[in-house]
Amino acid sequence: MSTEQAAGTRTEALLALAEQHAAHNYHPLPVVIAEGEGAWVTDVEGERYIDMLAAYSALNFGHRHPRLVEAAHRQLDRLTLTSRAFHNDTFPVFCRDLAALAGKDMVLTMNTGAEAVETALKTARRWGYDVKGVAPDRAKIVVADGNFHGRTVTIVSFSTDPSAKAGFGPFTPGFEVVPYGDIDALRGAIDDDTVAFLVEPIQGEAGVIVPPAGYLRAARALCTERNILLMADEIQSGLGRTGTTFACEHEGVVPDVYVLGKALGGGIMPLSAVVANRDVLGVFRPGEHGSTFGGNPLACAIGIEVIDMLRDGSFQRASAELGTRLLEALRAAALPQIAAVRGRGLWIGIDLVPGAGEARAACERLMERGILAKDTHEHTIRLAPPLCVRREDLDWALERILDVLSTSGT
Ligand code: PLP
Repeated sequence: MSTEQAAGTRTEALLALAEQHAAHNYHPLPVVIAEGEGAWVTDVEGERYIDMLAAYSALNFGHRHPRLVEAAHRQLDRLTLTSRAFHNDTFPVFCRDLAALAGKDMVLTMNTGAEAVETALKTARRWGYDVKGVAPDRAKIVVADGNFHGRTVTIVSFSTDPSAKAGFGPFTPGFEVVPYGDIDALRGAIDDDTVAFLVEPIQGEAGVIVPPAGYLRAARALCTERNILLMADEIQSGLGRTGTTFACEHEGVVPDVYVLGKALGGGIMPLSAVVANRDVLGVFRPGEHGSTFGGNPLACAIGIEVIDMLRDGSFQRASAELGTRLLEALRAAALPQIAAVRGRGLWIGIDLVPGAGEARAACERLMERGILAKDTHEHTIRLAPPLCVRREDLDWALERILDVLSTSGT
């Protein structure tokens, strides 16, 4: 490499490679990360940034948490994959531990979040036919406006975001969308063919939207009354992100089905799961559903460690304490450029007032100041640092965030 190339052109070269050879299905910030540790990453130029996105909450425990790396290494040296054609000595332990964490009987493992959501949809339909007695091919699942549950054809079939759907039809039938947070609309949508209500306890991709107090509790009561499954997509909200193990806990709600992913694999391996009691997950028989890599021993070894790390509640407490501190500081700043600040735990959405500039532009300026955060929709910046972030690092970031936002649009 020439001196000229070495001086600051690696980023450009790698951005050009991605531009040329990677499908343009994302619009990343122009930073090329080479290393990560805890809440911090270093780019290919040697610049450090605080990671305020944490891979959409897949990195709740930070980059390369030593316990998770150690668990991965131990398993790598022993056994990585059997498929489910044979048993292995890691998978059953993971299933037992995850079921216990969620207070349920059974686990069905997959890899990505979207696969776990698909699995939950199949579970609900099968439960509807076999247990509830819905007539064949009539099952209906109710979902919420503004939802984000993944990117498969079936899942985008019930998305309300036009950019997730345009050009991908025909879509899968069997879903009804109701406004998020509106219990009367949910009640009105349920009929005798309804088998489930699939909902995010807090909508992440929509901009960290917290529903009205009592909504989930009322949804729980309604689902019980009408004999339909309450399926909580806790892929982003779960595993400590909101200050509790599951976001449903804020309302004292226990769903029939948890859908989990992201942080379950410790930010190292994709690992997702549907967790429910035997009367629900017991509907599957051999050959009806599965995944070659789903529940592989490497992912499960990391998952076992993740679950163990959640047991003493320290990550949840850190999220609650630091999150409250960040939320209060952002609100107290009362910047005219900020229209609203919402969140729970270390999961915050900041809406910029129209005219204060786009959230994307603000994120680019934050990047120049050493903070990696991501916009969602036009005017919302979301903050979701790893739960292991240090208080002083968060204060460092806050100072810069307020500085950047106070000059937004100017
Ligand atoms: N469900 C929720 C609530 C999510 O936030 C996401 C991803 O952002 C998914 C499902 C899809 O997960 P994955 O990207 O792993 O398929």
